[in-house]
Amino acid sequence: MLAYRHAFHAGNHADVLKHLVLTRVLRYMGEKDKPYTLIDTHAGAGGYSVEGRYAQKNAEYATGIAKLYDDVDELPAPLADYVGLVRAFNPDGQLRQYPGSPAIANFVLRDTDRLRAYELHPTDHRILATYLEARPNTQVSDRDGFAAIKAELPSPTRRAALLMDPPYEIKTDYAKVLSALREALERAADTVTMIWYPQLQLLESTQLVQRLKASADAAAKKGWLHVRLTVTQADEKGFGMMGSGMFIANPPFTLHDELAECLPLLVERLGQYGGANFVLEQKAA
Ligand code: SAM
Repeated sequence: MLAYRHAFHAGNHADVLKHLVLTRVLRYMGEKDKPYTLIDTHAGAGGYSVEGRYAQKNAEYATGIAKLYDDVDELPAPLADYVGLVRAFNPDGQLRQYPGSPAIANFVLRDTDRLRAYELHPTDHRILATYLEARPNTQVSDRDGFAAIKAELPSPTRRAALLMDPPYEIKTDYAKVLSALREALERAADTVTMIWYPQLQLLESTQLVQRLKASADAAAKKGWLHVRLTVTQADEKGFGMMGSGMFIANPPFTLHDELAECLPLLVERLGQYGGANFVLEQKAA
């Protein structure tokens, strides 16, 4: 049973961090002439209305993308590039729609680059398949995204990026991303693997990053980078998402400095309390 719908969360602080990282990785990979493959294991619907009933329920975009959307000229260049893509997804200039990871990819990938998108929810899969219908070198699958590792790696393009963005509503997702990272690096040790995770007061969440680091230490050819953006506090019972993080195995060497340029501003604009902060750490192989 798939209860999670990303439409409720589209454009929130977690999407901002995730899609900033995704944009930087894809831009870097596109600098070489040779095509690459992007595997999006939990792709969602591709795009979301922020005016619709789902997004309006908690208006999460209002404390996310809406805090950056209007003054793109004042943002550091990497952030301006990402916000520019969100603006391009809104042709009349008003923030009405938010692009999901496949839409970001659709903007940045060249026709020769391959896109493999997996989405299990039948409605979101149908919307995504229609959205990407005309894109060359693209396949949209309704199969389990974790099975994509075996099916897609090593990739015929050799260079590959992998985005893993599961809902984590089922606790087994934590163990699954860890074993998927290990399997991906075993099959192709230089795969640029991006894993999003929620920052929660939950053992599985707090242990995940240490485990990802240990796996990347053992097998990633080009080290790892970890970035976390904390925007709020858990409630008095310890519930609620405080922020989120991205763990990247084999990151572009440019990513650390690009994120360092953006994170202070993200804390300032997206922080919802005085203790908002970021973590940015990396280890070369
Ligand atoms: N990556 C998307 C983006 O950045 O726009 C958002 C993805 S959302 C956080 C997670 C998605 O994974 C949901 O649409 C959900 O239906 C889907 N999903 C859940 N379990 C899955 C699985 N095992 N394989 C593929 N998709 C799955």
